[in-house]
Amino acid sequence: MSEVRVITLENPPVNGLGHAVRKGIVEGLAAAQADPAVKAVVIIGAGSGFSGGADIKEFGTDKMLAEPTLGQVIRALEASTKPVVAAIHGIALGGGLELALGCHFRVALPGAKIGLPEVKLGLLPGAGGTQRLPRVVGLEAAVNMIVSGEPVLSEKLGPVPEPAKAGARGDEAPVTPAAGQLSLPRQSSSRGAGAQLFDELVEGDLLEGALAFARRALAEKRPLVKVRDRKVEHENAEGYLKFARNTVQAVAKNLPAPVACVDAVAASVSLPFDEGLRKERELFTVLMGSPESRSLRHAFFAERAAGKVADVPEGTPTRPIKKVAMIGAGTMGGGIAMNFANAGIPVAILEMKQEALDRGLGIIRRNYEASLKKGKLTQAKLDERMGLISGTLDYKDIADADLVIEAVFEDLGVKETVFRKLDEVMKPGAILATNTSTLDVDKIAAFTRRPQDVVGMHFFSPANVMKLLEVVRGEKTAKDVLATVMALAKKIRKTAVVSGVCDGFIGNRMIAKYVEQAGYLLEEGCLPQQVDKAMEKWGMAMGPLRMGDLAGNDIGWSIRKRRYAEDAEYAKRAPKIYDRLCELGRFGQKTGAGFYKYEAGKREPIPDPVVEKLIVDHSREIGVTRRKISDQEIVERCVYALVNEGARIVEEGIAQRASDVDMVYLTGYGFPLHRGGPMHYANEVGLGEVVAAMHRFGWDPARSLTSLPLGGGSGRGS
Ligand code: NAD
Repeated sequence: MSEVRVITLENPPVNGLGHAVRKGIVEGLAAAQADPAVKAVVIIGAGSGFSGGADIKEFGTDKMLAEPTLGQVIRALEASTKPVVAAIHGIALGGGLELALGCHFRVALPGAKIGLPEVKLGLLPGAGGTQRLPRVVGLEAAVNMIVSGEPVLSEKLGPVPEPAKAGARGDEAPVTPAAGQLSLPRQSSSRGAGAQLFDELVEGDLLEGALAFARRALAEKRPLVKVRDRKVEHENAEGYLKFARNTVQAVAKNLPAPVACVDAVAASVSLPFDEGLRKERELFTVLMGSPESRSLRHAFFAERAAGKVADVPEGTPTRPIKKVAMIGAGTMGGGIAMNFANAGIPVAILEMKQEALDRGLGIIRRNYEASLKKGKLTQAKLDERMGLISGTLDYKDIADADLVIEAVFEDLGVKETVFRKLDEVMKPGAILATNTSTLDVDKIAAFTRRPQDVVGMHFFSPANVMKLLEVVRGEKTAKDVLATVMALAKKIRKTAVVSGVCDGFIGNRMIAKYVEQAGYLLEEGCLPQQVDKAMEKWGMAMGPLRMGDLAGNDIGWSIRKRRYAEDAEYAKRAPKIYDRLCELGRFGQKTGAGFYKYEAGKREPIPDPVVEKLIVDHSREIGVTRRKISDQEIVERCVYALVNEGARIVEEGIAQRASDVDMVYLTGYGFPLHRGGPMHYANEVGLGEVVAAMHRFGWDPARSLTSLPLGGGSGRGS
């Protein structure tokens, strides 16, 4: 029997293609070439997948660029005179898929995730993926996979069953450029001759299947297929690419990568292979140096970093969470409960009155039914999830929960009653969490005899949708409690960021400064629509005044009233335009009027002359001569207010690191991903320039932003 040499990729956790792995492949291949007994080669991944692509441990190091590069490895595979078969299971992503495309044959287990996710880091596949994939799977499927970055299951890329061949693949990954939701409809039924990624789908043992395939290929004397020698087949490639480019450009407004992906794939059609590769490299290099890609890569690493707590090492024991209880079935309680039901964890909700409980459970059901209508949930799943949610009026029914999350009114007295009761009834070791937005978690912990078990779990509204979870670490919160909550966050698919105790924690403490600047801008000369438009054009999902109208201006009002009482300096400094608006009962969308007016049942903000007059009159009353303010000043003052407070939050140790501040803003506050978060953005602008602007505004820049002498701080705010 012919000998088949097996090269195994082994670099846990995902067989990243680090330097040692690349070198190993080239050496293994050379040895196989040199050994006359070896007739074919199989490359397979150890562990749970083939390869996840580049080794992120090498990002930004010399090793990443050291030879052999991935391109060189792929060239060596392609040039092999002995057949090379890639045997794929689990994942073949990014460079992993590009490596497989350099092989002569590919076999896979069903269920493997195959994709080129580089676009999600603001890049494009830079080791031939944009040139080889369309030559194999066809132009449209390749554009979809590369532009969306979404993986496709291997069985969808395997051999097409005979009767289904022509036009059977309407199911490629939809084009969903990181920024938007868009699916490029199929334009053509032709997939090109033999347009399939896998030569065979293996049932059973992958290695055995791959070895058998290699032997068959040898026995049948199958010609060695070099992907580079194939042509991209499409009946109207030019028309399709134009359409793809326009569609992608419209959706991925602020991100250059998706369009560059289309341009790179276009080169696979219009240029000879090697020139196409050069074009791919050129486009890749431009993207690599773009601020957008830097932001996306920053966010990628920031998310990983946020999960780490300096003094709570990995491996810290966690407490099992098999049953959760919620106190309060209001806006937050209902949304939070859904997270646990979605993750298969039973959750009991406690209310004071049957009526409130019924209302809360009714809203949860209607939320799930809306998903059912949109086709995002099946009836069976809906029933299963509702089955995991129960309601009660009796603390006895929740006493055995492993975690209880309180989401009652934002009032320390009410929280005290609840926590004293929880202390009395909950089993020993239960984690007692509060969803408070502004109250002192240490004070809440002190209402119990077990402050070590108390922690803040600050979800954002709507809690079943928003990714962010601020985990508020009290002075006495036990390490295993923190470790448990961080692990649980992953399970319910939240991005958890640890915050220390302070008024507003990380996110709301910063937003107060941002909103404060927006208020000053109104008092000094802007109208709401100018401030909102400037911020939205810059990239915020929603301008600050529309945000207030959505969240309810009365919430900020009650917080301000408390702060006025606590802090005379703040009471003097704060812009009063918000109070003037609230005094008119204009709480926002819920009252049909706020900074804008709203037609019944609509969310479209309509500028309102009443507000314009209110603002202009208010400026006069406080003795401010209104002036024309540029969009640039609006953006700088609002964003740098976030930066300054973010820096102080890091200095005080409330946030563990600057990138945590960015994660909070990217996942909880609609901060534009392509700007990478306020702290990253400040670095991009250059701290010198940011600090100079702060001095121009008369602010005190946070110490960590500057080594310059601190300014006078005579300006308004921040
Ligand atoms: P909500 O008024 O919608 O709901 C509060 C619920 O708690 C009501 O259903 C009420 O009947 C119930 N309740 C009150 N006292 C109770 C008690 N003693 N026992 C049992 N149930 C009781 O309020 P919400 O917006 O859901 O806010 C709840 C908490 O979440 C507050 O601490 C708030 O600051 C915080 N929070 C709110 C948001 C938001 O955007 N709404 C965001 C993050 C955090």
